[in-house]
Amino acid sequence: MTVRMTATAARRTRRTVLQAAVNSGARCARQNLDPALFFRADSEGADSEGGEAVAWQARRAAAIGVCALCPVRAACEELALRDGDGDRATDDLVRGGVSGQNLAITREIRQADRITAATAADRDDEWQQLVELTVAARTEALKNPDRRSAGGPRKSAQSQAAQNRRIHSLTEQIRTIRTARRARTGWGAAA
Ligand code: SF4
Repeated sequence: MTVRMTATAARRTRRTVLQAAVNSGARCARQNLDPALFFRADSEGADSEGGEAVAWQARRAAAIGVCALCPVRAACEELALRDGDGDRATDDLVRGGVSGQNLAITREIRQADRITAATAADRDDEWQQLVELTVAARTEALKNPDRRSAGGPRKSAQSQAAQNRRIHSLTEQIRTIRTARRARTGWGAAA
């Protein structure tokens, strides 16, 4: 029997793979670096007096430098995007070699790209096929097989089974097309 994986399961699996890669290859962990290297302290905000803000800028550059040589940087960045790390308005961290502000910008660009791709895909022939299959499945589901069968309970059961098969076939076709479309437009592997 073929076991089909849902988009959610695929996302979870992908996350597990990414996390395993980071766990095994993180340069910051191997060098036993202080995690504080990657985070701005409360006293280091842009409004802070003295050299605190400058200290964070220097540390942020050093952190990005560490990540640049990390063998799992790409996986680390993808996890950061999935985790929702970063904020456009707040410069307070580095993860995966990317500042929190740039993580937020990257996430927004990816999301916009996905919406654009999904919108474009909605105009193709396959979308029309999806609409027609959905209408056919709903129409089939609304039919009452008993009305069409005049051969007693056995005939009625056969008619019901046939209807179920038609509905199942239509929903399988819909599911297959939807899954392929989602994968093509990136929704199946969302950050
Ligand atoms: S990319 Fe940077 S933060 Fe991520 S694991 Fe590597 S060194 Fe650590």
